Amino acid sequence: MKAFNSTLAGFGTTVFEVMSRLAMQHKTINLGQGFPDEEGPAPMLQALDDATRQFPNQYPPMMGVPELRQAVAAHDGRFYDLEADWQTEVMVCSGATEALAASILALVEPGDDVVLFEPLYDSYLPMVKRAGGNPRLVRLEPPDWRIPWDELEAAFSDKTKCILFNTPMNPTGKVFSHDELTTLGDLLEKFDCYAICDEVYEHLVFDGRDHIPLITLPGMRERCIRIASAGKTFSMTGWKVGYITAAPALLSIIARAHQFLVFTTPPNLQRAVAYGLDQEQEWYTQLGRDLQAKRDLLEKGLRSIGFDVLPCHSTYFMNVDFRPLGFNEGDVEFCRYLTVEAGVTVVPVSALYASDDIDHLVRFCFCKRDEVLNAAIECLSTHFAERTA
Ligand code: PMP
Ligand code: GLN
Repeated sequence: MKAFNSTLAGFGTTVFEVMSRLAMQHKTINLGQGFPDEEGPAPMLQALDDATRQFPNQYPPMMGVPELRQAVAAHDGRFYDLEADWQTEVMVCSGATEALAASILALVEPGDDVVLFEPLYDSYLPMVKRAGGNPRLVRLEPPDWRIPWDELEAAFSDKTKCILFNTPMNPTGKVFSHDELTTLGDLLEKFDCYAICDEVYEHLVFDGRDHIPLITLPGMRERCIRIASAGKTFSMTGWKVGYITAAPALLSIIARAHQFLVFTTPPNLQRAVAYGLDQEQEWYTQLGRDLQAKRDLLEKGLRSIGFDVLPCHSTYFMNVDFRPLGFNEGDVEFCRYLTVEAGVTVVPVSALYASDDIDHLVRFCFCKRDEVLNAAIECLSTHFAERTA
């Protein structure tokens, strides 16, 4: 029989699913895939119930229900002074994943170059390649995940259509600074490119840092697609409600892709998220502070065991180098070993690189109850104390 699509056949199942299945199989503490173990605001669950009963459960408008598009525009104005017209500049998607896919399909033509930073979120590369784009990968340098500016500039050319840019960044926990954004913006202008900006962790920022959307910088309003997600803002990762803010011309071409991908997103979920954005601001601004405390707890525990912990200023994730513990195999082997022998599951960071020449880092997820984080630290301490005894 004829072969299936070769790009997709080449990628396999995502690392998050693979590690969660392994965690279930071995009944471990799962600090791999990024999802909180506490629910979001209870009034949003009530709002969801109410919306399910009081409004039609039929196709909502393709661009999203007006309540949510208005709430997104108001949110962007409140937090970033970003004025957006909800009718022409805001669209609801089925999670940031769909927003990213629709944006890539809307911009990328076969043969276009797309610039991406490594390490990178797992859906970026397959979707860029499936759209026919040529990925131009630029590696950020640990431990601070610095941008190598010369390399970045060399990655741009007349063939570059866009950059796919994630701040705050998964898996690095980096929040890009105003200076970095300004220099990046200069490159976009110089090479006449767009930016697909994945900002799903916008409210999960620590240490007094500020998330700055690239779209708010001078000259960037017509070039940037800002993508955010209720999954992260409200700890409801299963809801899969995302939203895009972009200039009318950009949004209308993204809407063409969206209409053929999913057409729309469940209306009751949209209404509950609209309620949350308007009414639960206190909750989602507190979430960053709560997560910062969890980061501190896990970091202290992992350091005391002997891991080399890399800086983390945002998201759900912390990266560690396990070599100081005397483990000399790669990160995939280390993750399997931790699952089977220590009862804790994490993610190999090499899965978030295109090549496998970086294999000494693993990613821990800390959006879990303190007792779960403490139990994981306890399992690891006991295991490594015995191993080195
Ligand atoms: N982008 C990044 C950087 C992510 O970590 C995730 C995972 N939640 C997504 C996009 C996908 O978000 P959603 O669940 O809203 O599709
Ligand atoms: N964003 C989550 C992570 O990085 C996982 C999302 C998913 O499983 N698709 O772990």
